[in-house]
Amino acid sequence: MTDDVQRFRAAHVVTPAGVVDDAVVEVRGDRVSAVHPNNGDERAERLGGWVVPGFVDTHVHGGGGHDYASGDADAILAGLDFHARNGTTTSFASLVTASLDDLAAQLDVLADLVDDGHLAGVHLEGPFLSVEQPGAHQQDLLRAPGPATVDRLVEAGRGTLRLVTLAPELPGGLDAVRRFVASGVRVAVGHTAADDAMVARALDAGADVGTHVFNAMTPIHHRRPGPVPRLLTDPRVAAELIADGFHVAEEVLRMALAAAGPDGVVLVTDAMVAAGMPDGPYRLGALDVRVVDGQARLLTDDGTPGSIAGSTLTTARAFALVAAITGDLAATARFASTNAARHYGLDAGTVEAGGPADLCLVDDRGTLQRVMRRGRWLEAA
Ligand SMILES: [Zn+2]
Repeated sequence: MTDDVQRFRAAHVVTPAGVVDDAVVEVRGDRVSAVHPNNGDERAERLGGWVVPGFVDTHVHGGGGHDYASGDADAILAGLDFHARNGTTTSFASLVTASLDDLAAQLDVLADLVDDGHLAGVHLEGPFLSVEQPGAHQQDLLRAPGPATVDRLVEAGRGTLRLVTLAPELPGGLDAVRRFVASGVRVAVGHTAADDAMVARALDAGADVGTHVFNAMTPIHHRRPGPVPRLLTDPRVAAELIADGFHVAEEVLRMALAAAGPDGVVLVTDAMVAAGMPDGPYRLGALDVRVVDGQARLLTDDGTPGSIAGSTLTTARAFALVAAITGDLAATARFASTNAARHYGLDAGTVEAGGPADLCLVDDRGTLQRVMRRGRWLEAA
């Protein structure tokens, strides 16, 4: 009988019990079957570096030239493959604001991909957003959340809708938070002009995520705090951060990571179709975007730089940047994987016996070297 166990020996393995040095990871099928200190087993392939849990991205619109809102399952799978080769082994698919009919159609396609195990869920980033903080969302389609609208979107998701971003200050906003949460959908506060008191009410109503904190919300001011301080420090909240050094300056990232603590941050890419692609013209939803030096912005009539329109980030790059900021690869692995997995109850975020064989190998600086998804090594990006 052939031995169907894969064995890898790494300099460090980040496990729930802490970092195990000079450790062997055993993989059987698509699960990790054991993690133990090296015992001299010559069958183990030497990897060097750090084995960390495969990355989780809960806010991403596409990549590699492919848009998760396209309604084209093959294109969506190709986008997921691009991000998987960049370390994201577990992903939501995020949808920007569109008409309810279009969103329902997009949800229908994505729900099949969730049912088939390609996606961990769907994230609706609109249409219940503030016209004061629209970011790259089509303003004429933004709307307040009525109960019938909420129910229609939940039904269209067929149980796969996991997260909705909304501005709680909209008419009916707090009721919508309660209605989504009662339907098993998490609510993220974002694209919002809410003040701190309104954010507190939204959290008490059940919201427990902050959508790309700092971006598309009232900025922090020492007398008018806005949403940022509470989203970072309330222990119920998973605070999304886009760690590309552009959406949030590195010094502010450093402050935010410290304020939110080891369990409070989930790194997201907010990547759009142009991630991994050359500079040039692209689209986000129905809006025209131009990518210059890897930075995506809406195209404006007069040619001035428009609102930031998602990112071209990969989780691998975010991991390396946060690793450089923190100097702590185990902490960075929590931000890039474990915290999101725990918050949303995903089969991800851990390297231990019985856990998924979704693994990233990074070097001492946090640079991605190899990715294993479901027990198979992927080709490098
Ligand atoms: Zn987004």
